[in-house]
Amino acid sequence: MFERRATRQITVGKVPVGGGAPITVQSMTTTKTADVEGTLQQIYALAAAGCDIVRCTCNEQEAAEGLAQIVPRSPIPIIADIHHQYRMALAAMEAGVHGLRLNPGNIRKPEHIKAVASEARDRNIPIRIGVNGGSLDPSLYEKHNGLTAAAMVESAMQEIAYFKEVDFDLIKISVKASNVPLMVEAYRMLADTTDIPLHLGVTEAGPPPAGLVKATAGIGALLLEGIGDTIRYSLTADPVEEAKAGRQLLEALGLRERKNVDLIACPSCGRAEIDVIDVANRAMRAFEDKKLPLQIAVMGCVVNGPGEAREADLGIAAGNKRGHLFVKGRNVAVVPESEMVEALVEWAEFINEHGTDAAIARADTSRAEREAAKDRNQLLDEKGADANHAAEKIVEIRKTVSD
Ligand code: SF4
Repeated sequence: MFERRATRQITVGKVPVGGGAPITVQSMTTTKTADVEGTLQQIYALAAAGCDIVRCTCNEQEAAEGLAQIVPRSPIPIIADIHHQYRMALAAMEAGVHGLRLNPGNIRKPEHIKAVASEARDRNIPIRIGVNGGSLDPSLYEKHNGLTAAAMVESAMQEIAYFKEVDFDLIKISVKASNVPLMVEAYRMLADTTDIPLHLGVTEAGPPPAGLVKATAGIGALLLEGIGDTIRYSLTADPVEEAKAGRQLLEALGLRERKNVDLIACPSCGRAEIDVIDVANRAMRAFEDKKLPLQIAVMGCVVNGPGEAREADLGIAAGNKRGHLFVKGRNVAVVPESEMVEALVEWAEFINEHGTDAAIARADTSRAEREAAKDRNQLLDEKGADANHAAEKIVEIRKTVSD
């Protein structure tokens, strides 16, 4: 495992950030904040998908008034996103938000910044200094000859200096850019400069799958270096997708306890006895809303599947129109091919309740192993060790080239 960088801790509502606390997942609502019911519906969906902290825009008086009604009914802490108008930050605090995000690129008057920080200090409300590569203070852009990691870090440091003047230190920082290497460099630089907790993100990553790839590359690289205390995927998609992606990344890196199924599946090949993509997708849908913290494998053939996925809690491999179920690599049952997904769900629910040992104990493993061996041997007899006929093709290629 990797060592996490030591940072100070702040709390957003009741959620700790930094100082060794579990890394949190954030997202942002896309509704008008004045639409109280619509925004709350989205917040509930986000919380169910694993979002720990949510941000809502506070861009007008109606939004601040909406926040006053949303905050007491929200299951997770609310952060108000503030651009340009420092008065909206004051109004959001009046509404009871648990945190603020200020963009130093567009609230630039020192007296405005200090007025917000003083009020936040008195109310014990943390502020994220949210530097964004796309809206950097033009003077820093000029000084650094364009957008650089140093320019973004300097922007954050300038804001911290104003906060210090009014004795405010409940801070976290982000230095987001849409360019992944630039964002990684800026966060590394920041991590060397301060022990303030960091909020990671690749801004304007775009729609999935490219957006997911960019965000995962940037956020994942930093997390593996121990950098980062809270994360947000900025996708051009339903924000629930952002929360799911954030949660999945943290679970994949072992940084948060697994809450959902980790579905692994073989990429399929000439040996596949089923349409692996179809079965894996159907299994994914069947497990989507079942909070089962298990690793489950869908494998295309019984020749190699059970061995390749022997670490999975539960798996199924196809062979001769049958599905061979295995638990921790031990064959436990055989079902008709058409019932593979249903069988996975049934066994997963049993394992979740009673554990893998109990699942193996209840099974007729000798029979299941015998049946699996029968199908495996038959497939090997029919298709041979070279199921893709690669050896035959190579002979043909050699003939073609030498003719
Ligand atoms: S050998 Fe079997 S388990 Fe491995 S990729 Fe091919 S079909 Fe899937």
